[in-house]
Amino acid sequence: MMEGIGRRAFEVMGRLNFVRESGTPQEMEAVELICSEIRKSGMEPVVEEFQMEHSYIQKAELAYGDVRCEAGGYLLSGSTGEEGLTAPFLYAQNATEMDLVDAAGKILLLNQRLTPEVYRRVIASGAVGFLTFTGTIIDDRSITDLPDESLQPWAREIGIIPGLVIRAEDAMELVRANPETVTLTLRQEEKLVPAHNVVVDLPGNGKNDECIVLGGHYDTAQFSPGVYDNGAGSAILIELLEYFKEHPVRRPLRFVWFTAEERGLVGSKAYVKAHQDELEKIRFMVNVDLAAPLLGSDHACVMAEEGLVHMITYLGREKGFPIEAKQSIYSSDAIPFSDQKIPAVNFFRVGVNGGVKIHHRNDDLHQVGCENLARTTEFILAFLNRTLDAVVFPVPREVPQKITDDIDVYLKRKTE
Ligand SMILES: [Zn+2]
Repeated sequence: MMEGIGRRAFEVMGRLNFVRESGTPQEMEAVELICSEIRKSGMEPVVEEFQMEHSYIQKAELAYGDVRCEAGGYLLSGSTGEEGLTAPFLYAQNATEMDLVDAAGKILLLNQRLTPEVYRRVIASGAVGFLTFTGTIIDDRSITDLPDESLQPWAREIGIIPGLVIRAEDAMELVRANPETVTLTLRQEEKLVPAHNVVVDLPGNGKNDECIVLGGHYDTAQFSPGVYDNGAGSAILIELLEYFKEHPVRRPLRFVWFTAEERGLVGSKAYVKAHQDELEKIRFMVNVDLAAPLLGSDHACVMAEEGLVHMITYLGREKGFPIEAKQSIYSSDAIPFSDQKIPAVNFFRVGVNGGVKIHHRNDDLHQVGCENLARTTEFILAFLNRTLDAVVFPVPREVPQKITDDIDVYLKRKTE
């Protein structure tokens, strides 16, 4: 292992251990922390502000008979009156045609999160509100949270009706009670709020002007201290920045810490939109999202030609580092870049099912290890050392059709 690699990342990750949702004051706290780390490495960050659609939930509650049910709200799904919306209740299960025969004018309980197909059928049915549920029926309420959801832009284009998310156990009791009517109360203030990406340029040695972007998101989901997702990736970028400051390569590097990834890649989409005129100079993008869990394994999702999959597999063998590479999209901030035909790779160490918590109050330091973070950092560094200084950049500047098609589906521009 290279001397000392990963130590700084582990130390920075340890301080990125607090809830830092985009559009909140804690977002700015994280921005300041990242900026101060960048200055410690002798560089000056640029904070890029943009306006983001956001909403603040004032009241979210489901009531029937004498039951008052704790609820999260669907952000940007509108508001009911103060007294709530009272309507007949229907358990519409998977929202199939059969489930929705008699749904007009009703508030529906659904089995699953919204997909375009499900939501289109729900709106077409004439339902006036919807409920989804989260967690498991055996959750201990004293140690679990009930996060809000959000009505994504693609859904708002289909139609807007108020929605709540409730606990699985409460959903089960609601179905058992099967009340005639329920009252859905959702009060929220929707507005544009400032959000911030952090950017640093590291010039090349002048031999080549193809820019390589290295990115990862620093924001967290609600209630989550976000150590694994993605304080770890943010901290890896700090360490890589320090390394390449000391070891310049022939290509200019741009490091970007994105906000609002958890709201649907909002920060990286805003970045790409704001830098349209520079996109053609970007040769390649490297994104790091998820790292450091003790129980997990390392992966690379390649959004570029198949050859890069083999290159990473071979490099893993050479370094004795177990990594599984495949050509696939990955739900994170490289998507808006590859959507603009910029090839990319996502590196991540993902936790084993049941061995790690994500988007949860337990995504803190107890489930991660310094050694794991160091090994992932070291491998990404080995990859960068192979490619950033290459005489000819080895990856063609193109995105395969299969990946482009999958991105279209992912961004809900077409169905499968
Ligand atoms: Zn993430």
